[in-house]
Amino acid sequence: MSRYWSSIVHQLTPYVPGEQPRLAHPVKLNTNENPYPPSPLVVEAIRRELGEAGESLRRYPDPGALALRETLAAHHGIKADQIFVGNGSDEVLAHVFAALLKHDLPLLFPDVTYSFYTSYARLYGIDYQTVALDASLAIRIEDYHRPNGGILFPNPNAPTGRALPLGEIETLLRQHSDSVVVIDEAYVDFGAESAVSLIDRYPNLLVVHTTSKARSLAGMRVGFAFGDEKLIEALNRVKDSFNSYPLDRLAQVAAVAAYKDDAWFRLGCQKVIASRERLVASLKDLGFDVVPSAANFVLARHPGHDAGLLAAQLRAKDIFVRHFNAPRIDQYLRITIGTDEECDTLVAALETLLRL
Ligand code: PMP
Repeated sequence: MSRYWSSIVHQLTPYVPGEQPRLAHPVKLNTNENPYPPSPLVVEAIRRELGEAGESLRRYPDPGALALRETLAAHHGIKADQIFVGNGSDEVLAHVFAALLKHDLPLLFPDVTYSFYTSYARLYGIDYQTVALDASLAIRIEDYHRPNGGILFPNPNAPTGRALPLGEIETLLRQHSDSVVVIDEAYVDFGAESAVSLIDRYPNLLVVHTTSKARSLAGMRVGFAFGDEKLIEALNRVKDSFNSYPLDRLAQVAAVAAYKDDAWFRLGCQKVIASRERLVASLKDLGFDVVPSAANFVLARHPGHDAGLLAAQLRAKDIFVRHFNAPRIDQYLRITIGTDEECDTLVAALETLLRL
């Protein structure tokens, strides 16, 4: 605390990201990164943009990231004006909170979900209510049937990994035509259905994507929102009141290249999904309860072992998983799907720890 702080600073609950260990070869299964590198086209595009002497870096990047939006428009069969681009989907979400979710009625999101939502609500002074997941940690859309100024959740949800079918999202959109419904699809490519196909029919739908997960570009910080032009216009108004150049030149060309290599993307997703099913089977063999996951992570608990202790014991072996000291999930570990080799290292370590 300091007397120099703005008054809002006292009221913030900043997001705490997963640890980025300074080790050469950690088994890093704690921040839902992709275990495989991005497409070689990405590396080529960055080299090309950089050139011999980095000449292009003298110039500001395209503030509207038009080439990238056109690539995405072609990819999804939508218009470039239905796309907003930001510095990671975290920044996109921040602008969504400011531009579309601050109303007289409370914003609704699940009690167990991406914890950054609470941070943004506090930052922007947005009234919110959490809606409890059911006993199986699933979202029940009936529970959102209450006055609201917006609805937001990830699909698949994080950190549970559970997905809602598209039909239920469509029902929700119909039932709440006066509110913006934001579906955060950070993990959609690992097993859920995308709602991007619905944006032409529902002017209240905004879908948020990232290149950090299925496209292996967490280090580039590129995220998107897809929706009706009026929603996108609101986001651009906020963005241009904040930072006109959120995406640097290298990030823009990298993201374009990532969307040009669909085969690489599909193969990567298939590998992660196969490793997930293999890891789930091994965890169950060890006696873990595993929440059904459509994401690149699983949420698992062991009836006989404290999750916080297990996470600390794994960390001592340079194996990093995520433990949330939060209601309802404090007895779970959230484990990112790594390579089969990394998952095997984790399973072997757990096997030893469970015997102690
Ligand atoms: N939404 C959800 C549900 C996430 O888990 C994450 C990753 N922590 C993000 C958004 C943000 O991802 P990024 O800023 O890397 O695009």
